[in-house]
Amino acid sequence: MLVMTYLTVPISAKDLNEAQEQIKAAIAAGAEMLEFRLDYLEGLSVEAARKLIGDYKDTKLKQLPVIVTCRDARQGGMINYPVKLRIEVLTAAMLAGANCIDFEYDNFLITDRQEKIRLALSRNSKARLILSAHNFETRFSDIGKLYRAISLICPGTIPKLVYTANHINDCFDAFDLLHKTSGERIVFCMGNAGIISRILAKKLGSFVTFACTDKEQATAPGQIHIDDLKKLYRYDYIQPDTELFGVIADPVAHSLSPAIHNACFADMNMNRLYLPLLVKGQKQQFESFMNGIILRKWLNFHGFSVTIPHKQNALDYAKAHEGFIEPLVNKIGAVNTLIIRMDGKVKAYNTDYTGAMDAITNELKFTKSDFKELPVAVIGAGGVSRAIVAGLSDAGAKIKIYNRTVEKAKQLALEFNCEYASLDELSGMDAKLLVNCTSIGMFTQAKNKNDFNAVQSQKETWEEITQVENEHSNVEQSPVPKEYLKSTIAVFDTVYNPAETVLLKDAKAKRAKRIDGVSMFVNQAAAQFKLFTGMDADPKLMRKTIIDCLKNE
Ligand code: NAP
Repeated sequence: MLVMTYLTVPISAKDLNEAQEQIKAAIAAGAEMLEFRLDYLEGLSVEAARKLIGDYKDTKLKQLPVIVTCRDARQGGMINYPVKLRIEVLTAAMLAGANCIDFEYDNFLITDRQEKIRLALSRNSKARLILSAHNFETRFSDIGKLYRAISLICPGTIPKLVYTANHINDCFDAFDLLHKTSGERIVFCMGNAGIISRILAKKLGSFVTFACTDKEQATAPGQIHIDDLKKLYRYDYIQPDTELFGVIADPVAHSLSPAIHNACFADMNMNRLYLPLLVKGQKQQFESFMNGIILRKWLNFHGFSVTIPHKQNALDYAKAHEGFIEPLVNKIGAVNTLIIRMDGKVKAYNTDYTGAMDAITNELKFTKSDFKELPVAVIGAGGVSRAIVAGLSDAGAKIKIYNRTVEKAKQLALEFNCEYASLDELSGMDAKLLVNCTSIGMFTQAKNKNDFNAVQSQKETWEEITQVENEHSNVEQSPVPKEYLKSTIAVFDTVYNPAETVLLKDAKAKRAKRIDGVSMFVNQAAAQFKLFTGMDADPKLMRKTIIDCLKNE
């Protein structure tokens, strides 16, 4: 049976006036169901519960189905009300017209409590009972057994099983339970690692998924803002057969990729969804995640963007599973795109280098032959530098790598048969194209002093503290003194936040041609989109989405 998923907003108010405000906000934001969390109400009484529901039923506001919950403090309740009062309040709520009441399965196992709830249910034949089990620490030891026990104890009950996912791989229990069962049941995971289970609840047919209208009012860890769910994660368009994609990363919260890919899916009316996939840990956890996805074909995942810290793990995975590996990827040593084939094997690509090469080609109106013997100064010897050096060297450019740690520049230069030097030697650079692949000039996440102090306080030596200071004032810096720039040297800054870095401003002042990091970002995302869907995304929409996201950060 296909189950409608109600997008439910908890009303977690301290008093009745605040509750009315929250109800209005929830309806305006597009809630499909409300959950009155009476355990948040101060001075709770049977009359207060009656009045809250009665007032809502009497208003001209859109009438949404209502769940009434008065949670036991041991299972996440806000105020520790006695069980007797909680049962009385739930009974009154049911008689006042609540569509569902939510009671803890553990408490229902106690005979006199069960009798009272059953009696209340018998007095309102329309009301439904949700019997819930929560585990705030970790997975249930046997979620299937618990589900069966809850389902059998009281016919017509809606079982609710919610637990904390400490790793994204913990979500598979919830997905499997939803996949194997049918009818009305509520199953998802709490915590940051469980966020995707809240989004996918609709695809997999959970009766309810919760979202908040204000992060301060969230009633459980990992609850998403309703606007994010609807606008960023295309909630209204999710269907059982929606194809899934996502970015595998740690951290992932600030990734721009979900916004970009979902904007393009929406623009092209595609039944596809792109998710943030927080895969913590290293190779082993990455492998477990990939194996878990591939084993569950019914989840309908088709491809991934891969970023820090899993680019090497993605390459190792493709090698170990005899997938297809794009030729240059082995030389770069990193994969940023994985496609899952029908037979469960993966195809591995790196669109960072194609994105960079496309950005140069488009912005400088280059053809392939223009790269032959082109003198290029690449600053930096990290992951992005490696991908760009591979692309430029493949196209025949004459590259010199400059890096703070000269040894790293040397290693990279040896692999790609190019020259290297220290940053001090930039004064003598003889290049037609300069590419910044360092993070100098980049806006960092620690935006305020508190964040900065938090990072700083974890550092011990003076050298480390100086490095933190440097990293957090990056945005004012340029990797190249302005006087070294010339109108004849085109400047490509891979840093995309901000879009116009100090380096690019200096290059503009010298009337040099410029390529920004947003162009590279757009081109690598466009190449991924093509690999995901076989179709071309609108680059203007991609660029606008990135710029809008950066403005809102
Ligand atoms: P990475 O592997 O950590 O490498 C960082 C590089 O920056 C290293 O060469 C490092 O030098 C150098 N560096 C960092 N801080 C420095 C400082 N204060 N002074 C001098 N050199 C410094 O990072 P990555 O993955 O290559 O990313 C580099 C940058 O590329 C990112 O910051 C990001 O802005 C940009 N990026 C752009 C895109 C895009 O699509 N446009 C995509 C990804 C990344 P050492 O070797 O001496 O440590």
